[in-house]
Amino acid sequence: MPAKILDGAALARTLRQGIAATARQLADAGVRPGLAVILIGSDPASQVYVRNKVRACAEAHIESWLCELAEDTSEEVVLAHIGQFNANPAVDGILVQLPLPPHLDAMRILEAVDASKDVDGLKVHSAGAVVTGTAGFRPCTPLGIMSMLKATGEALAGRHAIVVGRSVSVGKPIGLLLLEHDATVTFCHSKTPDLAAETRRADILIAAVGRANLITADMVKPGAIVIDVGINRKGDGKLCGDVEFEAVRQVAGWISPVPGGVGPMTITMLLQNTVHSAQMRLAP
Ligand code: NAD
Repeated sequence: MPAKILDGAALARTLRQGIAATARQLADAGVRPGLAVILIGSDPASQVYVRNKVRACAEAHIESWLCELAEDTSEEVVLAHIGQFNANPAVDGILVQLPLPPHLDAMRILEAVDASKDVDGLKVHSAGAVVTGTAGFRPCTPLGIMSMLKATGEALAGRHAIVVGRSVSVGKPIGLLLLEHDATVTFCHSKTPDLAAETRRADILIAAVGRANLITADMVKPGAIVIDVGINRKGDGKLCGDVEFEAVRQVAGWISPVPGGVGPMTITMLLQNTVHSAQMRLAP
């Protein structure tokens, strides 16, 4: 039997209704949730992502400010904008769209965001909260994946999770969140000698690499939950993930598509984190 589809787009729609309802209640109580988005440069993919985030805010009754800066903007000017958003009490969250132009120090810029407004969860402070399992913002993509896993209704405790990719924003934190839910976690990456031998042991397989068709059907354990984080553009301009979808679908128990899987959930978690931040403003 082919795998069940983990429909991130449908789950995102349902969750966004609840987020919008909470945002309306907050606005009625005088605290309308607000997100500031900073886009530096003219990377076409970043422009699409930012437009989608701003639109999603409007649909969820969240106010948004889009700060578009030229490619050659100096670090001091970027930091000054972040400082203004930090000081603005109407702003609950600040998102700096990555990647940044090469002359900018991403670490320094992300660290300038106030910890109480780090709704993207990328500051060292937020990463520390993930490691220690304490209160703080969780990065949006891993949070979205956890929500998708919850939607399967499958137990995570004691299951073997393999995370392919070790980025700060996806691979490392999703591994830690799975660990927090009592999964046994293995991280794989570009230096893993026999990736297939590892992935075949996975009850839960997270692919976060950025390489089309990296995960083939022979690399997947029958019945596994397969979450495809990758976003790759094919020759025909269409998007695909890291997983050979049609073939893996015949083997896996659950599989998330690209597009329509992790992507919409990532934006949804950004909205959720922003609304949580506004709730903290109302009742710290
Ligand atoms: P990254 O681009 O920073 O790093 C890629 C990771 O893949 C590295 O850790 C590297 O060690 C590993 N890797 C590279 N080649 C490999 C190989 N042959 N075998 C095993 N591992 C290998 O990672 P990222 O920022 O997490 O992005 C990964 C992918 O996920 C990209 O396609 C990105 O566009 C996508 N992404 C999607 C979302 C979403 O919302 N859907 C969010 C973030 C990232």
